[in-house]
Amino acid sequence: MLVTNPGIESFIPPQRVLMGPGPSDVPQRILDAMHRPTIGHLDPSFQEMMEEIKVLMRYAYQTENPLTFPVSAPGSAGMEMCFVNLVEPGDKVIVCVNGVFGGRMLENVKRTGGVPVVVEDDWGTPVTVAKVEQAFTDNPGAKVLAFVHAETSTGAQSDAQSLAALAHKHGAITIMDCVTSLGGTPVLIDEWGIDSAYSGSQKCLSCTPGLSPVTFSERAIDKVKARKTPVQSWFLDLNLVLGYWQSAGKRTYHHTAPINPLYGLHEALVILAEEGLENAWARHRSMHEQLRNGLEGMGMKFVVEESARLPQLNSVWVPEGVDDAAARAKLLAEFNLEIGAGLGALAGKVWRIGLMGYSAKQENVDFCLKAVRSVLHK
Ligand SMILES: *Cc1c(COP(=O)(O)O)cnc(C)c1O
Repeated sequence: MLVTNPGIESFIPPQRVLMGPGPSDVPQRILDAMHRPTIGHLDPSFQEMMEEIKVLMRYAYQTENPLTFPVSAPGSAGMEMCFVNLVEPGDKVIVCVNGVFGGRMLENVKRTGGVPVVVEDDWGTPVTVAKVEQAFTDNPGAKVLAFVHAETSTGAQSDAQSLAALAHKHGAITIMDCVTSLGGTPVLIDEWGIDSAYSGSQKCLSCTPGLSPVTFSERAIDKVKARKTPVQSWFLDLNLVLGYWQSAGKRTYHHTAPINPLYGLHEALVILAEEGLENAWARHRSMHEQLRNGLEGMGMKFVVEESARLPQLNSVWVPEGVDDAAARAKLLAEFNLEIGAGLGALAGKVWRIGLMGYSAKQENVDFCLKAVRSVLHK
């Protein structure tokens, strides 16, 4: 007996405006790039494009690191790649938790057999540098410092430069989550001395989800090469992936690269380079200021204090007496507008309004303010 043919037809998605915590609106140019013909992943012209992606990523990350490439999986896989390679069983890892994604880093430390030293901060506040300094003092020999630069669950940005400087002073290497910061606020890998970082394609790069740009310094690679135990994950083992992403011509099969999504990432990075990083940062800032003025004008309050606020992720308290889920459902049904709900400790209490990448534009700010105003009036 065969399973009955379900007779399902092609899926046509609704047209939405994406102003949540990611994915962000994808520009037509990127969608167009993705529907170009699929070619072989070892085709010389594909390999040339992969080389260009690495060059463009070095610009986006502001780094000379040769080992800078996109992992063929979402941001969470980039996170795992950093932890499974850089943490060996028994390594003491100082891990900063001030939101959902810091909590995931802690989970990764435990699963890789690392010994976590947790530095906790309240949700909505940045990582307290003095607490991290104390953790290093209390835990000599800590090998790794892990922190989230831009906590998407709360909208708080931490001082990556000071944290990286502390790690270096104490001989530890850094793992930085910059999934939400890359392309939206400055991420200066070399200037700050970050040893490893991961990001995502669908936030301020405005590409489709499913790719994770990562970068590793020489110090990070040395730590991987000095491992006494093999990396637990075959797919994410840097030693193996290296053979795939090394210079064109010498490439050997590891897995089949997601060809068309990589066309999209290439286009997203070309768009970022055309605009220029500084201009992209300034655009996110100015759109944020307009959105903030509008929201505050309606009496809404931000979760994060101004100095640590991420322009690309605006967390505001759900106004008193407003039904969180019903209001967001209305925004989606009546305006085709997606904004984010609160996560974890902030579930049901906040809205997270994203201004990421292509979504950080005047018409979105105006549209969002109009829609929120209308929903709050009802
Ligand atoms: C979105 C996000 C991730 C996870 O990325 P996915 O592509 O959803 O796997 C990790 N860290 C932060 C800070 C994020 O915002």
